[in-house]
Amino acid sequence: MLSSTLCRCGKEGFYLRRHSGEILCKRCFVKSVEKIVLKTIKRDKLIIPDDQVMIALSGGKDSVVLIHILSKIERSYDTALFAITVDEGLRGYREEGLGLAKRVAEKLGIKHHVITFKEAYGHSLEQICKFAEEKGVGLLGCTFCGILRRRLLNDAAMKMGATKVATGHNLDDEAQTILINILRGDISRLARLGTKPIRLREGFIPRVKPLRYVPEREIATYAYLKGYPLYERECPYVRASLRDEVRDLLNNIEARHPGTKFAIVKGADRISDLLKEKIEESEVGRCSRCGAPSGREVCRMCEVLSMLGIDGSFINHLAE
Ligand code: SF4
Ligand SMILES: [Zn+2]
Ligand SMILES: [Zn+2]
Repeated sequence: MLSSTLCRCGKEGFYLRRHSGEILCKRCFVKSVEKIVLKTIKRDKLIIPDDQVMIALSGGKDSVVLIHILSKIERSYDTALFAITVDEGLRGYREEGLGLAKRVAEKLGIKHHVITFKEAYGHSLEQICKFAEEKGVGLLGCTFCGILRRRLLNDAAMKMGATKVATGHNLDDEAQTILINILRGDISRLARLGTKPIRLREGFIPRVKPLRYVPEREIATYAYLKGYPLYERECPYVRASLRDEVRDLLNNIEARHPGTKFAIVKGADRISDLLKEKIEESEVGRCSRCGAPSGREVCRMCEVLSMLGIDGSFINHLAE
């Protein structure tokens, strides 16, 4: 609470936006976050009339804030919303988020579905990580999780007739991902990171990130002000990831140089605009095993499943 300073509306200040110096009361803070999200949606046409939007709802604060704000604008955009939670099968971690996701969707009157790794791939993430250890596959839990979850969301979106998949990635997530791609030298992924929905090819439902310009701290504050419980249980695999190191690094820099995360994301947007056309032109094709759109002969999902000795032949053959 900022007791000695006032918001621009004259009320008592509640939140100091360090990167801009703005002081906001509770009401102006909430309005301001919503305004940023709406501006992003409009400017980049993230959602257009008649869209069927599938919201990836983990139950964490980001996806809860996303579904809350999208539910407020649903009618004015004439869109249909539904939510989906991916249950990776992480005992002691996912249950709480799953329960929260169900309650939030129910409260907002939004249809909610749950899909599991076990059903889709025959094994939970825990089992997959165990196989990896036994087989000496040197990939981290987050790598399997990211590849398999992305594919699952896309397949579910296709089956359920979604035209967009909305995810709760915030400014911090995006700045981290950009830095990770640079550290890995993965320029093509950098090109695909912009906020605008891009349809790379048939069989790929565009993903949109309406919270891309809202810092994590503001999302947590918004969720708190709206009365949503914050579940901060940590995934057992998160501490081993490169993302975790990059998160700490960026938080330290941001504390000393406010605005750094914004600068990284805005700079990457410009690079993405310049590179996008080239990438869209050059990357066409399908995975020779599952038929999913892929820039490689064999997609990442098929690659990791075969490394683990998991038979992926029962997975949707998207080319058919
Ligand atoms: S921290 Fe990693 S393993 Fe855990 S849910 Fe997130 S991406 Fe998956
Ligand atoms: Zn105010
Ligand atoms: Zn494949």
